[in-house]
Amino acid sequence: MKVPFLDLGEAYRALKDDIDAAVARALASGWYVGGPELTAFEQAYGGSVGARHCVGVANGLDGLHLALRALGIGPGDEVITASNGYIATVLAISMAGATPVLVEPDPLTHNLDPARVTDAITSRTKAILPTHLYGLPADLDPLLEVGRQHGLKLIEDAAQAHGARYKGKPVGAHGDAVCWSFYPSKNLGALGDAGAVTTDDPELADRIRTLGNYGSHQRYVNEVRGVNSRLDPLQAAVLGVKLAHLEEWNARRQETAAYYLEALADCDLVLPTVPEWADPAWHLFVVRSARRDALQASLAEAGVQTLIHYPIPPHRQEAYADLGLGAGAFPIAEQLAGEVLSLPIGPHLIREQAEQVVSAVRKAAA
Ligand SMILES: *Cc1c(COP(=O)(O)O)cnc(C)c1O
Repeated sequence: MKVPFLDLGEAYRALKDDIDAAVARALASGWYVGGPELTAFEQAYGGSVGARHCVGVANGLDGLHLALRALGIGPGDEVITASNGYIATVLAISMAGATPVLVEPDPLTHNLDPARVTDAITSRTKAILPTHLYGLPADLDPLLEVGRQHGLKLIEDAAQAHGARYKGKPVGAHGDAVCWSFYPSKNLGALGDAGAVTTDDPELADRIRTLGNYGSHQRYVNEVRGVNSRLDPLQAAVLGVKLAHLEEWNARRQETAAYYLEALADCDLVLPTVPEWADPAWHLFVVRSARRDALQASLAEAGVQTLIHYPIPPHRQEAYADLGLGAGAFPIAEQLAGEVLSLPIGPHLIREQAEQVVSAVRKAAA
């Protein structure tokens, strides 16, 4: 049996009647930008993560960029984020015109380390931007405390954390702005690009919506230089159908994660760390091995597809060559990039496939 990493068509096939009906309803509504499908999804999603406001945007990168700009962050300002993780988080800071300041993650949680954040603060620092990487919430309380002490904003990259909880409360409104992607492979994924920002601050929500709508409240009156970044109502209709299944899908991810953690406990691997205050969304199940490439090859031979999130840390990307940060600048991020391997997890995975993953890993990493 093959064990694919993802099967994006599966959720559509399972929910075909409901999704087709929602798309037909959106088409018949006559609203192709904005309108009732979008408003209904924004309200449902904001409510589901415990935030007072939810603003749909075109994708997760735009959500981060617009949240930064709406918080007044721009040229000359520094934003602290982790040296590992996905490039979008760093790109959003650059798009806002600010300077990304990278700090090493905690090697066990892969998330921003509050102690290192304090060391990186300068007179130009304006915000902290943690990612809830792989769906594991970052340790928000100490980050919020550092932010309070130094007058910094907290913006969360929650693109991998739909349904995650921090100390029992859903990720969604701890920081000033929480940014979501509904890219198809995320725990809550659209049938194309989509994103959102959630916040408890009504004025911030209004600024983000305005920035994403050409900087305009009133048609043809432009208050600021905005962009066009809106959540497509067809995608909102689809997301509304899928949102009702998120909890059940995440429960299946949790079940697979618990099984992997138990069945692989004695293997020569570093398994994911789950602090006692965290309920991860298990977007990815990432193990570490000093012999990662050999492990990946033998899993492929056993029919198990794996991926690497992420093979090149942002400071080693050509896009950031001008930072002048060579090999060795961020040893933890570089070591993680060389050792991480993502095993298949997701609602598509059946028990027999998870067992096949376990036996292939045990054989390769006994
Ligand atoms: C997917 C992702 C993004 C970007 O989302 P898009 O919708 O693809 O723009 C940002 N940050 C993280 C951590 C992601 O996983």
